[in-house]
Amino acid sequence: MDDSRLLQLLLGIHAVVGLLTAGLLLRVSAPYGRHAREGWGPQVPFAIGWAAMEGLSPVLMTALFVMGDRQDNGFAWLVLALWWLHYGHRAFVQAWQRRDRGTPIPLSVVAMALLFNAVNACTNGWYLFDVGPVRGAAWLADPRFGIGLALFLVGMGVNRWADRVLLSLRSPGESGYKVPHGGLYRWISCPNYLGEIVEWIGFAVMTWSPPGVVFALWTAANLVPRALSHHAWYRGTFDDYPPSRRALLPGLL
Ligand code: NDP
Repeated sequence: MDDSRLLQLLLGIHAVVGLLTAGLLLRVSAPYGRHAREGWGPQVPFAIGWAAMEGLSPVLMTALFVMGDRQDNGFAWLVLALWWLHYGHRAFVQAWQRRDRGTPIPLSVVAMALLFNAVNACTNGWYLFDVGPVRGAAWLADPRFGIGLALFLVGMGVNRWADRVLLSLRSPGESGYKVPHGGLYRWISCPNYLGEIVEWIGFAVMTWSPPGVVFALWTAANLVPRALSHHAWYRGTFDDYPPSRRALLPGLL
């Protein structure tokens, strides 16, 4: 079997597992943050677990870039830079912006996230730096590139803004939850998840690649159920929670 077919097979399996995972997460919320609970095995400190599970991805992506033969290709450099822009912040900045120490994360959640991030990095890196089409200067003038890049950057901006709002709700050392307000929070409970989903849809469009599509699908598989769980939790916890606010899509979901 050649590399291209092997990658297709892996992506097919990864996509099916993503859909099954979405079904599971609609019934059982991932046990970290406000949904943390006993029974998921040994735990690790939040910042260490978070840095490990998010930090592996840019390392793998960089390794695939170095092993590939596209170091003279501007698009390949751009993709690598965007990957680092996302994961560098997520792995090495965001956890340290918390004002509390964070709820410990079960090792089982860290292991699943490591696998998810490793498969995404490997399939995307393998395609973009090796078996996929070489995108030359002409691609940078293609509307798919411009639209995808714009979606990626807007999604990232929304995600970071929304996460910052949440992180600013706690005073140093405080660990409870409050109702976020302002901006997109007027309409939805989880604009950070909406931003993240838009970001990876943008990446899929910008790279016009099957691994990008499967990554976006997986992101939605993780975050749509989690947004629904958060929303139900907010409604059950705060009597004065704004009744017109939806989970993820203003007026719709
Ligand atoms: P959450 O929205 O659950 O929490 C984000 C941070 O804000 C946490 O530190 C949380 O504390 C705190 N927080 C949340 N709500 C409140 C509140 N009402 N009052 C006070 N503090 C609050 O996001 P996640 O932890 O699930 O995810 C973090 C980032 O990772 C997000 O940007 C998300 O998009 C991304 N992510 C991406 C995935 C993917 O598949 N691509 C999968 C999962 C996450 P605490 O931890 O104590 O709850």
